[in-house]
Amino acid sequence: MKLIPVSQPALIGNEKKYVKDCLDTNWISGKGKYLDLFEKKFADYINVKYAITCSNGTVALHLALLSLDIGNNDEVICPTFTYVATANSVLYTGAKPIFVDCEPDTWNLNPKKIEKLITKKTKAIIVVHIYGHPCDMEPILKIARKYNLYIIEDAAEALGSEYKGRKCGTFGDVATFSFYGNKIITTGEGGMVVTNNKEIEKKVKLLKGQGMDLKKQYWFKVVGYNYRMTNVQAALGLAQLENIKKFINQRRKIADLYNKYLADVDGITLPIEKPYAKHSYWMYSILVNDSTNRDRLMRFLKVRGIETRPFFYPMHTMPVHKKVGTDDLKISEKVSKKGINLPTFFGLKKKEIKFIAYKIKQFEDLIK
Ligand SMILES: *Cc1c(COP(=O)(O)O)cnc(C)c1O
Repeated sequence: MKLIPVSQPALIGNEKKYVKDCLDTNWISGKGKYLDLFEKKFADYINVKYAITCSNGTVALHLALLSLDIGNNDEVICPTFTYVATANSVLYTGAKPIFVDCEPDTWNLNPKKIEKLITKKTKAIIVVHIYGHPCDMEPILKIARKYNLYIIEDAAEALGSEYKGRKCGTFGDVATFSFYGNKIITTGEGGMVVTNNKEIEKKVKLLKGQGMDLKKQYWFKVVGYNYRMTNVQAALGLAQLENIKKFINQRRKIADLYNKYLADVDGITLPIEKPYAKHSYWMYSILVNDSTNRDRLMRFLKVRGIETRPFFYPMHTMPVHKKVGTDDLKISEKVSKKGINLPTFFGLKKKEIKFIAYKIKQFEDLIK
């Protein structure tokens, strides 16, 4: 039986043509026209001044933090309900992640729970637009201004998402994206740092290229990294970006269909889209009212040919990111145990969505 996967890339445009061009012209490494073009077109799409490619979304976060001089003895507030890369990148710099709880409905970090975590050591807040739903940026920006904190947007899951008509990735001092195979566009592996700040751009470029002086070859003033993307990856990225509108529209259509077919199913909670939000639906996700039934539902769907994913574990519950700071992380713990991601990808067919919804309904009827 063929499994309906949770995710799948859609290489439906100029991918082959552009990659072939790289191979035909020998431009396969960390320089080339596709890198320049991808950066330029990406910056235009997000509507920022600068976009800098790098090898993946995790190092994009590392570069973003380093570009703000975050390091030893600093604290960075970040959601506990996120993918591990967010919290790990803080540790790479020597700083300490301070975890904040999520909202019960958007599953994004709760702005109301930020202020009490701020200390003299706090330098920045990382917001993560989880599963593609934008964070409530206005109150978060207000807090950042009041306490003079940087904002970093981990927009890995939110390419194309909007908050009050403005794209995610334009609100922070710096923002990051991922182009892993399951993300909204993919370069196989890959990432991007975006900013409107010239100093940040220069620093990110310096650090991702071994710290080599941008004007003096083989002169190294700082310890940098090799975090470059290749021209071949950028060729894929450019081709993918050409279809971004189509991808987002299709994801939103998929969400509409799930919403329609799952509307009358008891025992589950559907995802919401706040009035301020345009959701890109990186993952269409539901909550099952009971965590034991969540696990049973996942098994039920799997043997019927439907792959699903459980929600992330909250960071503070895992050994490497032991609880710090606060006891007030209970919503994240609850959400994490109840959530699943359903198949969400460009090539998903209407009849497959119908089938998936029907199977969920069947399960919920069975356990009634
Ligand atoms: C995917 C993802 C990342 C990391 O991206 P990689 O390209 O896999 O390194 C970071 N943060 C979030 C929220 C993600 O979903």
